[in-house]
Amino acid sequence: MNILDTLPEEMFDRITRIACAALDVPIAIVSLQDDDRYWFKSVQGFSVCETSVEESLCQYSMSAPGAFEIPDTALDPRLKGNLFVDGPERIRFYAGVPLNSVEGVRIGTLCVLDRTPRVITEAHRQILRDLAAVAAHELELRRIASTDALTGAWNRRMLEIVAANEFHRAERVKHPFSIAVLDIDHFKRVNDRFGHEAGNDALHGFASTFREVMRAEDWLFRIGGEEFAAILIGCDGNSATEAMDRFRREVANRDFAVSEGRFRMTASGAVIEAANAEGTALGPLAHLLELADKGLYQAKRLGRNRIVKVA
Ligand code: GH3
Ligand code: MG
Ligand code: MG
Repeated sequence: MNILDTLPEEMFDRITRIACAALDVPIAIVSLQDDDRYWFKSVQGFSVCETSVEESLCQYSMSAPGAFEIPDTALDPRLKGNLFVDGPERIRFYAGVPLNSVEGVRIGTLCVLDRTPRVITEAHRQILRDLAAVAAHELELRRIASTDALTGAWNRRMLEIVAANEFHRAERVKHPFSIAVLDIDHFKRVNDRFGHEAGNDALHGFASTFREVMRAEDWLFRIGGEEFAAILIGCDGNSATEAMDRFRREVANRDFAVSEGRFRMTASGAVIEAANAEGTALGPLAHLLELADKGLYQAKRLGRNRIVKVA
């Protein structure tokens, strides 16, 4: 869902605040599962914002059938030597309920913790389940509101949000990132020749190719009919241009299948560095996009099927 490492948000903080108040516990967390860690979208009463899977208490609730409780961690042999139990935090109580996606995939947990052992009531358990459902529903609404249904790419609105976030992150971790704009060449011909449905399939295929070729942390946005933008994390202008050119070649070499047969299509694009190696922003988004658009126009004029790097 690409929510990992985003800034805190009131919507999720409300959920953890209500959980603390309703169960009278000092700590509540909305924790989301990543490959090797749990990352906290919202946290009350605790100074950490992520844990490794091995040290986490969430790992047990993620594999439990429903609500999962440890009334007294000192009595649980699995937790002997656990960082949160035997470390300075001295956690003695844990209760967690999973956050499920609409497909039924567990994406994280809502959990409450205390430094004294506790037993919770069925009414408390129901509050946790309800709040977890609210959090999961909010995540799902965000996914729907932020993706383009035809291609699965992020939508135009998300470009502004993600870019703002990436400018912050680049500054914090001192790494560069680049932005690309892309436009499919002579796409009108695809529609004219094979029909609108085939055109739609081709747009979907274009976005799928991006997801196959590019890294998981890179972002693709559909910003217009057959126009896309990309954000390439950790890439300066040169490496982003190389990466986009690799994608361009992949698109050009791919056969797109329709009922009438197969066809090829190409795309043109422009790449501009958005933050440099020190993580300093090189301009406001609107200005960078304007420059990138000029580069794209140049790529079209030079004969299409090419990526231009904007200096
Ligand atoms: P150029 O190389 O100059 O970009 O030529 P082009 O034909 O791609 O450019 P133009 O902007 O003239 O046409 C874009 C076409 O994309 C027109 C429109 O019918 C088609 N298009 C836009 N959105 C969609 C869509 O959602 N589905 C389909 N099938 N076609 C779309
Ligand atoms: Mg266009
Ligand atoms: Mg076009």
